Amino acid sequence: MPMGTKKTRIGIYPGSFDPLTNGHLDIIIRASRLFDSLIVGVLRNDAKKTLFSMEERVALINKCTKDIPNVKVEMFEGLLVDFVKKKNADTIVRGLRAVSDYEYELQMAMMNKHISPEVETIFLMTDINNSFLSSSMVKDVAVHGGNIQGLVPDAVVDDIYKKVKND
Ligand code: ADP
Repeated sequence: MPMGTKKTRIGIYPGSFDPLTNGHLDIIIRASRLFDSLIVGVLRNDAKKTLFSMEERVALINKCTKDIPNVKVEMFEGLLVDFVKKKNADTIVRGLRAVSDYEYELQMAMMNKHISPEVETIFLMTDINNSFLSSSMVKDVAVHGGNIQGLVPDAVVDDIYKKVKND
């Protein structure tokens, strides 16, 4: 790279996002300020049954991030580090809630570092208001007719109720 040329920093925030919650959206907004471009990577994993299809999960995130110009949503499959490299990114962003997230996240970060030492993982701490929030909790509450307002972006509340009703 010529001297004086600033490298474009691209971050990848990967996950299942089944569905997007306010916890995820908060991480997306905060991470978008740390990079020139942030790609939300939605994992296609046929071994894991999801409530929302790949296309639906991408559409819900797009709907909630359309006003953040440097955020893009893309699906990926296979190794995360391969997706990171394909996108010319070098940083993985993950969110941390309680201590219970730590073990799994550490394992994943270590494994990714082992496979691709040039790729860094950074962690953003959850906002205190979202620290108890998970996609599975949201689905559980919605299935039983509970109130999910305030747990997920307003724009997706109806999509979630509709989906659990028809599932
Ligand atoms: P996974 O990628 O393990 O399938 P998710 O798609 O739910 O899980 O989450 C993607 C990332 O967002 C993970 O790093 C997860 O820890 C983080 N995350 C999930 N919920 C929250 C929350 N409420 N606050 C902060 N980070 C969160």
